[in-house]
Amino acid sequence: MHPIVIIGTGLAGFNTVKEFRKLDKETPIVMLTADDGRNYSKPMLSAGFTKEKTADDLCMATPEKVAEQFNVDVRAGVHVAGIDAANKRVLLPDDHLDYSKLVLALGADTWTPPLEGDAVGEVFSVNDLMDYGKFRAAVDGKKTVTILGGGLIGCEFANDLSNGGFQVSLVEPMGRCLPLLLPEQASEAVGRGLADLGVQFHFGPLAKAVHHGDNGQLVTELSDGSKLESDVVLSAIGLRPRISMAKEAGLDTNRGILTDKTLRTSADDIYALGDCAEVQGHVLPYVLPLMASARALAKTLAGDTTEVSYGVMPVTIKTPACPVVVCPAAEGSEGDWEVQADGNTVQALFRGKDGSLLGYALTGEAVKEKMKLNKELPAVMP
Ligand SMILES: Cc1cc2nc3c(=O)[nH]c(=O)nc-3n(C[C@H](O)[C@H](O)[C@H](O)COP(=O)(O)OP(=O)(O)OC[C@H]3O[C@@H](n4cnc5c(N)ncnc54)[C@H](O)[C@@H]3O)c2cc1C
Repeated sequence: MHPIVIIGTGLAGFNTVKEFRKLDKETPIVMLTADDGRNYSKPMLSAGFTKEKTADDLCMATPEKVAEQFNVDVRAGVHVAGIDAANKRVLLPDDHLDYSKLVLALGADTWTPPLEGDAVGEVFSVNDLMDYGKFRAAVDGKKTVTILGGGLIGCEFANDLSNGGFQVSLVEPMGRCLPLLLPEQASEAVGRGLADLGVQFHFGPLAKAVHHGDNGQLVTELSDGSKLESDVVLSAIGLRPRISMAKEAGLDTNRGILTDKTLRTSADDIYALGDCAEVQGHVLPYVLPLMASARALAKTLAGDTTEVSYGVMPVTIKTPACPVVVCPAAEGSEGDWEVQADGNTVQALFRGKDGSLLGYALTGEAVKEKMKLNKELPAVMP
């Protein structure tokens, strides 16, 4: 019997193994990962300074420890080259591995804007623990950081790096913080909270180029002609589900790798979950949906085919300078924001035409309303 093969040792891959081993202690499992295989919680990467944790502190278990604890064969530093779905094997650089069932927990790639300049190669993005180790080494002893992007990851890093004593400049072309997640008044509250920590915003222009300047500084050139000098530049523009390997193997993909509610892809015995997956139209790159997916998939892999359901899935954004909880309405929902604002406390309710609550954004003191509002919201995917 060939093993269950899981590609990815992020939270999706790891939690699938953890849940599966509660049901089945013996079936052989091989986990493959291109990174160093250390187990860590990715959301902590944008709270490292606030919690005073280095990359090594954030490692919860070495691959050897995971292997022993869960009776799995963890192979780190292995870049899977492709999938031969017809013959049920994954293609390794110089070899192949047969599987009985394959789980794709491939995550998402950082998307870097098409920048010019001779220092583009020095722009950091932080999407895993190894990236974080390199970034921490680069900012060590430095004072100033330019962040490209004011979404969840950019705003969290702006808060965290400010807490770490860095002077932060943040560039966001869409003109406000968290533009895709929050209505305007809530964005403004987050912006004020971060500005009070000293974050300098450059709302409107795009970053065009990053050059080497004097004294080891980097110069970020914006589309309005302004130039920002800093020691380090961090790109937090966005993430895209890793679909290319699945697509090349002939699996159906859209924004993510397409699955049904049992997390099965269009190919027999291949499943996908986490940031790489599009589960019945839902691309939800957050921890709560991947935990629900891991629990359902573990049952399916153990022989009891189970559909995942997503309840209400609030996202807490780690900007302690202005706390934020957001529950976005389902894509394409029609309705209007109803906003009450008092300083940095904003309660924004997204209501459908019939008055029903479809989503919310809460900042400051209003985050306390979360539990009450969650009871009113429809499940994301019943
Ligand atoms: C800075 C930051 C803060 C965040 N904060 C929050 C938060 O507060 N709350 C929240 O809900 N979510 C948060 N998120 C999102 C959350 O962390 C992700 O949704 C989650 O970690 C994704 O897990 P994953 O296992 O799907 O992917 P990943 O953790 O990206 O794992 C992907 C795995 O696939 C492997 N892989 C990929 N391609 C190959 C290949 N070809 N060969 C071999 N291995 C391969 C990689 O090596 C890796 O092991 C945050 C994300 C970031 C970046």
